[in-house]
Amino acid sequence: MRRENSQYFLTVKHNVILWIIIIYVTIILACSPNAPDTTGFDKAARVADDVISGNLMPWVEQLAQVRATDVTVNCEGFEEKELFPACDLTRDASVKLVAEAFSAMGYDPDTIALGTGPQTAYNVVAEWPGTSRKSEVVLVGSHLDAYYAGADDNGSAVAAMLEAARAVRNFSFARTIRFVAFDLEEFGSIGSTRYVQAGYADNVSAAIIMDMVGYASNKPGSQDEIIGISLPDKGDFLLVIGNNDSAELTQRMVALGNNSKLAKLVGVIAPGDGTYFLSSLLMRSDHGLLWYRGVPTIFLTDTANFRNPHYHKTTDTPETLDPTFLARNTRALTAAVALFAEVQ
Ligand SMILES: [Zn+2]
Repeated sequence: MRRENSQYFLTVKHNVILWIIIIYVTIILACSPNAPDTTGFDKAARVADDVISGNLMPWVEQLAQVRATDVTVNCEGFEEKELFPACDLTRDASVKLVAEAFSAMGYDPDTIALGTGPQTAYNVVAEWPGTSRKSEVVLVGSHLDAYYAGADDNGSAVAAMLEAARAVRNFSFARTIRFVAFDLEEFGSIGSTRYVQAGYADNVSAAIIMDMVGYASNKPGSQDEIIGISLPDKGDFLLVIGNNDSAELTQRMVALGNNSKLAKLVGVIAPGDGTYFLSSLLMRSDHGLLWYRGVPTIFLTDTANFRNPHYHKTTDTPETLDPTFLARNTRALTAAVALFAEVQ
């Protein structure tokens, strides 16, 4: 997850717009007039039963371990700031580990290099082909580049993605499921932006992007406010963010996760394509260009620095995560993938 730009909150003019948006978002959430279609919920939840909780933390720990001795990415052109330790970013060892993990599950992963020079992005892609609607793709994405151990950011989401990738191989789906570990998210979603620009997402009918899904606290006041969004005070939920294009997917995922008691999900639907001025808060990850392009995409997060005090610090280590929270979120992810890809 990238650092947000706080300059938007400083002017009075923006405060007026802000209140209009707060009211608008609250109205959207409060109304949700159409109850989501629950067809296929039971079948989808059964796929989540194949998630093995014990597989998750070892992925987070292995990623943290290989990152400790990895070479850092060339940070030329990026100024180091508080919570933006640009010259401490690694990715090479994570690319190798993720590709090997997919191979060990029986996938034939591709590492797609995009761009040139020291900031070439290496995205790792693995596909589970669909049956009757093979050409329609459900994309699951999370970034593999990290500062320091990067346990929550973003080992947690990479682990969730890997475990979902392992679990879905026990089932067949109408649509193709594609897992993408994006590179260089921290430098401005470079890997995902180049991926979408190169046309690789043209056949994507639904996408789920995850960034930081493993940190929770049940202490009152542990969830900071995200200006413009009404959230519970305890940071023990996963935030599911959609826009107009993904409103239905968002509502279905939230209903599936909560109704089936897989995880505690809170849904937010940003007005329009989601790219209004608060976009610095809602678009700080790899779903950004997918939203701009109109690809129905939902974004899952523990809200990053609005909850996790270790955000972009050396203390973002595996022992700070909540393994049960991560496991529940992985089950909700896996069920949503099964629903959207239409498990047979
Ligand atoms: Zn980050």
